[in-house]
Amino acid sequence: AKSAGANRYLFFNDTMNKQAVKRLQVENLIRHGLKEDLFAVFYQPKMDLLSGKVVGMEALVRFITPKGGLVSPASFIPVAEETGQIVDIGTVVLRKACSDVRRWIDQGLFHGRVAVNLSAKQFMLPFLCDQIDDILQQTQLASYHLELEITEGTVMESPKLAIDTMKKLRARGIHLAMDDFGTGYSSLAYLKQFPLNTLKIDKAFIDDMNSARGRNMVDTIVTIAHNLSLSVVAEGVETLEQLEQLRKLRCEIIQGFYYSKPLSADDFAAFLHEQKKP
Ligand code: C2E
Ligand code: CA
Ligand code: CA
Ligand code: CA
Repeated sequence: AKSAGANRYLFFNDTMNKQAVKRLQVENLIRHGLKEDLFAVFYQPKMDLLSGKVVGMEALVRFITPKGGLVSPASFIPVAEETGQIVDIGTVVLRKACSDVRRWIDQGLFHGRVAVNLSAKQFMLPFLCDQIDDILQQTQLASYHLELEITEGTVMESPKLAIDTMKKLRARGIHLAMDDFGTGYSSLAYLKQFPLNTLKIDKAFIDDMNSARGRNMVDTIVTIAHNLSLSVVAEGVETLEQLEQLRKLRCEIIQGFYYSKPLSADDFAAFLHEQKKP
């Protein structure tokens, strides 16, 4: 029994080591990526259910490998959050998103909003507003073309401070969306105090819409949003059936593979061109 215990200990130690090594590898890769400009921004359209038009897009970061492959954020964002590198990644994403959108506006392809994800660490930066001001200034993008997506976890860490920051951002005309709504620790009492524009319903709820219970849940979220005068975006919409159900529930904006996967900047420009055709 004693030796089995020792083995277990060794095994545990070994997996811990492997995790630590993996973490270090990812951390090094991120550092390399930041230095060599290997982070790209992809865009997924947000479609208005009534008009069928693009009203905005979400900026989603990708890591480009030397062979041109794409690494999804799920594999590096958690490490980047831990190491704090998410702040630098976030800066890159904001700058690229603002300059891409500025170009599409100039080309007459777009006049809506680009939504950029903010991590908790970024949101808590004391100089966040100054940094955003700088980027908008550098890219010559008007603040009302920018939307920021933040999660419940981010704002619930320190709700009072979060409200202050949110008010500062709103004062600039920047829109705010509560991302992944319903998956985190949310408080209805706070929800009405947060100066939000939009609630984004997490994909998990959309996936559940094949049951009456699941549809009721989405119905409830849409009702809460509308009672608070917020618009609703459903994310992860993959089927026409889901789209029709969401239409019945009066959800106004749809994002998901049904319309389009996240696209590279060039492909997204082509998508906008296509949309403009009568
Ligand atoms: P999220 O903010 O919830 O973004 C939506 C995710 O759902 C994206 O995954 C998107 O590609 C995916 N998605 C959209 N529609 C569908 C669909 O119909 N079916 C399926 N199966 N998936 C769909 P992605 O791009 O891999 O991003 C994953 C997460 O990484 C994001 O979740 C977000 O939390 C984080 N993330 C992405 N970009 C950034 C960024 O620039 N900064 C920060 N802080 N986080 C980011
Ligand atoms: Ca998001
Ligand atoms: Ca989301
Ligand atoms: Ca999500």
